[in-house]
Amino acid sequence: MRINEIFCSIQGEASFAGQPCVFVRLSGCNLRCRWCDTTYAYDESCDMSIDDVISKVSSFDCDLVEITGGEPMCQHDDVCDLMNRLIERHYTVLLETNGSLPLDDVPLAVHRIIDLKPPKSGTIHNEEIWRGYAGQWRSTDEIKCVVADRADFDWCIGKLHQYSAFHQVIIHFSPVWGEQDPANLASWICESHLPIRLNLQLQKIIWDPNARGV
Ligand code: SF4
Repeated sequence: MRINEIFCSIQGEASFAGQPCVFVRLSGCNLRCRWCDTTYAYDESCDMSIDDVISKVSSFDCDLVEITGGEPMCQHDDVCDLMNRLIERHYTVLLETNGSLPLDDVPLAVHRIIDLKPPKSGTIHNEEIWRGYAGQWRSTDEIKCVVADRADFDWCIGKLHQYSAFHQVIIHFSPVWGEQDPANLASWICESHLPIRLNLQLQKIIWDPNARGV
């Protein structure tokens, strides 16, 4: 597998936020979001076998593991194999994915955290892929929307209604770091009366926002 980094830190986002977690960051991504904070994962990599990845994960003695990137599903076969083997070893496995690729083969026990990319992300939203997700939500799925402004917020609300996501999956909204005031997003969420959670990136609050491996 092409691996960028493996480290243990505090989970900073979504419903497992605040818990110690091992992060397995895979290299390569098929998107180029305007506000991407892991550009170093596009190309920097070392080759590791799945056995070596599992051995490194086990060295941290932590039973929560997030597979992230880059975009992990770019290495579809290997990452599905890795997730299955971690599940067999009784890890709780999270998959952070950019919402542009099929997720049917992700093991059922994995918590899928799927990004919905609004227009100001600078990427193209894949309507066909999302219609596929919408027909098969899992009870452990979570959706994450990173919004730059009110137009992004409203666009995401419209799409989440279209895909029948409210009351089916956990939904998180985050402000683009350094660009949108979290207080504005908090107000929009309260005014919406929708089941949305404000999602702040704890790792950027605790440590230097540009730090790696935290
Ligand atoms: S999908 Fe993630 S890793 Fe890829 S460009 Fe967007 S933010 Fe960066």
